[in-house]
Amino acid sequence: MKTALVCGAGGFIGSHLVKRLKREGFWVRGVDLKYPPFADTEADEFIQGDLRDMHICKQAIDRQFDEVWQLAADMGGAGYIFTGDNDAEVMHNSVQINLNLLEACRQGNTRRIFYSSSACVYPEYNQLEPDNPKLEESSVYPAAPDSEYGWEKLFSERIYLAYGRNHGMEVHIARYHNVFGPEGAWNDGKEKAPAAICRKVAETPEGGTIEIWGDGQQTRSFLFIEECLEGSTRLMRSDWSGPVNIGSDEMLSINQLATMAMQIAGKQLLINNIPGPLGVRGRNSDNRLIAEKLNWAPSQPLIRGLEKTYAWVEAQVNASQAP
Ligand code: NAD
Repeated sequence: MKTALVCGAGGFIGSHLVKRLKREGFWVRGVDLKYPPFADTEADEFIQGDLRDMHICKQAIDRQFDEVWQLAADMGGAGYIFTGDNDAEVMHNSVQINLNLLEACRQGNTRRIFYSSSACVYPEYNQLEPDNPKLEESSVYPAAPDSEYGWEKLFSERIYLAYGRNHGMEVHIARYHNVFGPEGAWNDGKEKAPAAICRKVAETPEGGTIEIWGDGQQTRSFLFIEECLEGSTRLMRSDWSGPVNIGSDEMLSINQLATMAMQIAGKQLLINNIPGPLGVRGRNSDNRLIAEKLNWAPSQPLIRGLEKTYAWVEAQVNASQAP
């Protein structure tokens, strides 16, 4: 039986990944500070522990896993990573996790490791226009991410690549672009735009007003969790090791995303654009490299994933409002 270690198995992507690996027949060990908040973990074993602690990393990597997935990070949506209030913690915590984990993998003779990087590594100067952002993988240098979260991801990518070169490890790096779906943060300050917008739409009665940060013209693309896992598992089992975008190239403005959520909910609401933490002006996934190397692209339109996410968020809102 194949074995996998999932670091960050209590988080959004990690908990969905555990389910997928179990469906594929893996024996899975998860590690996280916390258990998944919205459903029981499907991992065969779950270590509740802090990966900043080398002892926990060694406990987690006590055998040669077929696949080690590193998704653990101190992260959140714009309200968490773009305010500046959490910069030192974000950088310190995530770098320490990655340093420890790589060293434990080296000592445990791990062959194949996946690292979840982010679109936040790309330079701000290529994302100043909402309509034509440049996010080709090679455009990451000269480096100028717009957040410390992005700088940490870029630095950590380099540590993974260096361990790959120097210690014969097979490293696979995905630069994720705004992954969303059910069972993700929706109301704890770490939620990202799709869940936050679904929550606001679900909470607001017909004819009411929702608040959207910025002028709403900032653009993004959003990848549904199932597509993310398909791209990630293909990357992990490929012979391509350079960082590659895993995202959707269906770009839209944040106000358009809000309108799509209203359409799904069958509600007419007004949008009030207010000041708030934003990030770059325009961002979209450039999928040419992944198409070339893995012959893969996401297959479903955004609205299919948003329908499933809205239904889940609406159920959370209703449950939280129940007497
Ligand atoms: P998440 O916050 O839901 O999951 C991260 C998990 O890491 C959390 O459960 C957290 O408890 C755990 N963790 C943090 N510090 C830890 C520690 N010291 N020890 C053990 N566990 C610890 O985030 P996610 O959306 O599932 O993202 C997974 C990965 O993908 C992260 O590395 C993130 O930076 C990256 N990523 C995600 C997105 C996205 O849109 N979701 C986009 C780009 C990159």
